[in-house]
Amino acid sequence: MSKTPLLELKNIGKIYVSEGNVAVGIRGVNLAFNRGEFVAVTGASGSGKSTLLNVISGMDSYEEGELLIDGEPTSHYLQKDWEAYREEYISFIFQDYNIIESFTVLQNVELALMHIENPAKRRKKAMELLRRVGLEKHLHHRGSKLSGGQKQRTVIARALAKDSPIILADEPTGNLDSKTSAEIIELLREVSREKLVIVVTHNFDQVEACATRHIRIFDGAVELDHTLRASAPVASAPAALTRPAEALPPPPVYRKKIKALKNGLTLGRVRFTAMPKLSIFLCLLMTVTALILTFMSALSYDATGLFDRSTMFTHMNGRAVIVRRDGAIITDKELETLAADVGAQDAMHYDFMLDRTVQVRFDRVNKQGNIDNIWYNFSFGYPAEDVTLSAGRYPSADNEVILEVPISAKPYLSDPFTETELPLLFDMAPYRVVGVRYYYDNTVTPRLLFTESGYKLASAMAFFSEQINSFSYDVSATDILTGEEHNYYVNAYTYIDVGMPDGQYYLNIQELRSLYDFCGPENVKVSAALQGKFQSNYTNDYDDFYYDDGYYNGYDASDANVVRYPLDEKPGATTVSNAMKSVLEKQFYETWNNGISNADFVVLSPSVFMDFMYEHYYAKSYTQASLFFENDREAHDKVEDLRDRGYIAVVSDETIELDVMTLISKKLGQFMSAFGWIVSVVFATLFLSLCSSRAMNATRGDIGIMRSMGIPTGVVRVSIYVQTLIALIPAFLVTAAACVAVYLIPKTNYIFTFLHIGDYLILAVVLIAIAFNLSHKQVAKMFNESVKKTLKKGGTKA
Ligand code: ADP
Ligand code: MG
Repeated sequence: MSKTPLLELKNIGKIYVSEGNVAVGIRGVNLAFNRGEFVAVTGASGSGKSTLLNVISGMDSYEEGELLIDGEPTSHYLQKDWEAYREEYISFIFQDYNIIESFTVLQNVELALMHIENPAKRRKKAMELLRRVGLEKHLHHRGSKLSGGQKQRTVIARALAKDSPIILADEPTGNLDSKTSAEIIELLREVSREKLVIVVTHNFDQVEACATRHIRIFDGAVELDHTLRASAPVASAPAALTRPAEALPPPPVYRKKIKALKNGLTLGRVRFTAMPKLSIFLCLLMTVTALILTFMSALSYDATGLFDRSTMFTHMNGRAVIVRRDGAIITDKELETLAADVGAQDAMHYDFMLDRTVQVRFDRVNKQGNIDNIWYNFSFGYPAEDVTLSAGRYPSADNEVILEVPISAKPYLSDPFTETELPLLFDMAPYRVVGVRYYYDNTVTPRLLFTESGYKLASAMAFFSEQINSFSYDVSATDILTGEEHNYYVNAYTYIDVGMPDGQYYLNIQELRSLYDFCGPENVKVSAALQGKFQSNYTNDYDDFYYDDGYYNGYDASDANVVRYPLDEKPGATTVSNAMKSVLEKQFYETWNNGISNADFVVLSPSVFMDFMYEHYYAKSYTQASLFFENDREAHDKVEDLRDRGYIAVVSDETIELDVMTLISKKLGQFMSAFGWIVSVVFATLFLSLCSSRAMNATRGDIGIMRSMGIPTGVVRVSIYVQTLIALIPAFLVTAAACVAVYLIPKTNYIFTFLHIGDYLILAVVLIAIAFNLSHKQVAKMFNESVKKTLKKGGTKA
């Protein structure tokens, strides 16, 4: 009976070409091998022994001839076919052991037992094998801690674990003393009775006793092929020959994939714990990366506005802004009825401040005695009753406010808050902070919450102030000296210096003039004292008025031209007489000519001022209001209805076409934020791969060993991904800790900024992507070269 040989080499040739030099590895080799053989291969150094084994194992390609495995030709084999072949047929034992040094003895052997799915069974089998090679006392010793003989025993156990039909050993005793060598050879013989064993050796004497065949290589060719004794009988067709995969229907691909995934997970976990230094290093790198990215995300949160459109009004879901088509002022009553008629949930007559913000600076003295400060942009609101306060109380007076600020402001705010006075609203009024609510999302605009009436008054003041700034009108003034009439065009230089000594409000004459002009004389309240003063000046002597009193220095309220209302005393309304009007005009004219320093001041009490602002100014000139619906869609639905009722209505999500310059400057800032973030991600990726590539390279030898063992590439690949992904866990934990710290330590909120759930998700995805990229690079590097090369590079590690 002519049996197909297990292995058959037909005229095999292998040449090495490196840097223009051609070296013959082996040439014209014709050999056939069967189970039960124990072949000793000898030959001088460089004769081609290793090349022969490498070709047989599929770790190196051959250029000439044909290698037949169980009669099947292999010249068309691709890398993956060789992988599969090695997985099924080959156990390789190297001179320098190629044990995975970071793994324990047990782990090294279990690595070869991954076809056993049950971990307990796998362990049992590994222990059994190790007992067979006499290593039962060294199960948990690391590879690096073993003697040469112990390493080789481990490798033999590992080779046995695979139960492959072919064991190739390339000078397995080359690094061992003669006693240990003899033991190893004996062990090999003992464990491989029904297998094909090919042992390359310098020392034929060592194997002579057990070898069945001797092959000597010279200069790449077979010089001698000598049968020493009958090969061990092979009892029956061994399991591997029956090819169960062909007999039974092949397992579905997904099952194979799931198995590879499971084994990859296990292997990745083992590798992670087996290389604590590398793992800690990776963890640190990932953590630093995660923190840098968190920080960068915090800095660039406004990047999300890049694709937002510019809305006409501050966008609030469901808000519609209305004015009457005829331009008339909307009354409170009218608004109330309208809201009910169109089904609005709420209405706000004094919505002026919804579209305004004010900048406020918080100062504090730091440990070095210097002043730290931070700025916040505040928007406004009322009522304050539905707010849960962090400290303090609700406002009860018009000039009391609650601050809604990010927690990072906490170190800047003194407690009790009554001591905190804020010069808000264009310096027109000192507000007293009586309560505060801290929040953690510092991407939200801080708010100032008033009482309802405080809000109205503040709106009035803000509105007024803004009007003054865009103020222009014609003034006709009579020159008192010459009696000539002059016409002047006056604009925002109707400068109002409204200081606040003594908690009072100073309107200069220009302001008074502007009030007068806007509201009509009947609405401007000026004290009798002021009138008297002007009259007396006017009737007495012009020179006296002009030269003595024209210059006002300091805030001395007792100064001749400054009139004070007692704080809580409202003066009776006094109509400004025509005489006074001309005095005012004259005064204004002088001021205009002589500069602002010549301004006189009128002093009004806060209550008078506020009442005035609201009752006579704002309420009589502010024509806008807001209605609030369930949502924007409903607001849009109601617009038609509102138009039919005589209003111009705009839903607050409607966009505005900004002029090009504004648009560019706005988008540029957001773009830079987004760009900065992307740059930081790219930088983090580069930083990570730069820092880790050396360290990861150190594991290449291990990868080579695993591949030479025939562990499926898929499994090894998955294990590399798993290893880096595990290193991400501490990064996530630290990031989570930083996020919790934001809640616990106010100051870190300033550094790290609150991020939204979505932001954390994006961060997590980016980090995982970075880790994947890192692993991918490793994988690409290692699997694009032959096992031989990978092994060699790994071998050069310290
Ligand atoms: P042995 O194991 O018998 O000492 P090898 O099989 O390692 O010999 O080498 C056989 C020949 O092939 C030698 O001349 C050697 O220089 C050459 N050779 C082996 N590997 C390479 C390689 N990777 N590149 C170039 N030449 C090689
Ligand atoms: Mg060699």
